[in-house]
Amino acid sequence: MQRRHLSVLGATGSIGLSTLDVVRRHPQRFSVYALTACSSVEVMATLCREFEPAIAVMADGPAAEKLREDLSDLPHIRVLTGEAGLSEAATSPEVDTVMAAIVGAAGLPSTLAAVRAGKRVLLANKEALVMSGRLFMDAVEESGAELLPIDSEHNAIFQCIPAGRIRQPDAAGITRILLTASGGPFRKMQAADMALVTPDQACAHPNWSMGRKISVDSATLMNKGLELIEACWLFNISPEKIEVHVHPESIIHSMVEYADGSVLAQLGSPDMRTPIANGLAWPERIDAGVAPLDLFAIGRLHFERPDTERFPCLRLAAEAFETGGTAPAVLNAANEVAVEAFLQGRVRFTDIPVIIGQTLSAVAAVPADSFDIIFSKDSEARQFAYACVTKLACEK
Ligand code: NAD
Ligand code: MG
Repeated sequence: MQRRHLSVLGATGSIGLSTLDVVRRHPQRFSVYALTACSSVEVMATLCREFEPAIAVMADGPAAEKLREDLSDLPHIRVLTGEAGLSEAATSPEVDTVMAAIVGAAGLPSTLAAVRAGKRVLLANKEALVMSGRLFMDAVEESGAELLPIDSEHNAIFQCIPAGRIRQPDAAGITRILLTASGGPFRKMQAADMALVTPDQACAHPNWSMGRKISVDSATLMNKGLELIEACWLFNISPEKIEVHVHPESIIHSMVEYADGSVLAQLGSPDMRTPIANGLAWPERIDAGVAPLDLFAIGRLHFERPDTERFPCLRLAAEAFETGGTAPAVLNAANEVAVEAFLQGRVRFTDIPVIIGQTLSAVAAVPADSFDIIFSKDSEARQFAYACVTKLACEK
């Protein structure tokens, strides 16, 4: 058993807390070197008292000040702030394993820093990979980082492919990836009623408990669109070979079909501690605190095709990937702005795909040759999407 020294980026979020719950069960296996968060000082202070990391980072400056005061009786915990603090947490030589669980584009610099430092990177922050696909995967190859997918679907696919063939679908004999989707809380809702849904309804996911941004993404099916792109990069496979299957029970987390007709699936209760424990301990298996699957109680599993008329975000993501270059970064940025505006009650749920579509049309894709180009297209897209929000908010 290798003792692992962790940094948890986004420690106060849904994935961060689930990670620490697994870590807590295995004190002899894991130690926590760094915890990071944006501004939730209280949760962070509690975590610091329990896990006693060497460094605690608050991205927000005033929040870091407050945390420093709160932890004044624990002077061995260094409180840092900003991008420099996040980068130190991601790259410190004392750390071998980094959980990348910051939400959105804000997580790209630190996730990339961990990759460049050659860490074992547990990738929850799918937006980082969607934005920078090829450059990100090139960085993994150059540094020799060990990239392990935490998104439940991608972790399922990872578990269904032989270890040496993760990025060689043809050599592995893979014919298709069957990417499962719960369908979200509005799976059966009429299109006309979707204009009226509230943020709380959108965040009430039937199977998973998650942060608010990814919950809205699940409701629009943008989450599946981002995951389609994520799967193409992680498993080096073309999108035509990935078929989304709506599977409302969220028991099968995805499947891999092989040339001989075999289809391998990974099943489990919808609890992120399973893929997190898989990544933390890989290639070993450890207790994740997850209740055993009771298939007798579940009884039946169902599958449907996704409806891209009612859920255009899935189609927009597939088109952005096909366009290539900076288009997925623009898609992601517009989505982040639109989801935030929806959560603030400024635009309707059905405005989200409108804002993304308009932004993709307005901000032309260029080759994604450098991270500078990606960040500059990200901010151009955000500016355009904000203008769309302002216009739609006035009409609302
Ligand atoms: P969350 O909102 O619950 O937590 C986000 C974390 O990131 C918090 O610790 C927050 O403090 C930190 N953060 C937010 N903005 C930041 C900023 N600007 N700078 C630094 N830190 C910042 O989100 P979550 O649901 O835990 O999701 C995290 C990531 O994992 C997302 O990319 C999401 O797509 C992915 N993911 C989540 C789940 C899930 O079940 N929650 C499943 C699969 C993938
Ligand atoms: Mg997922």
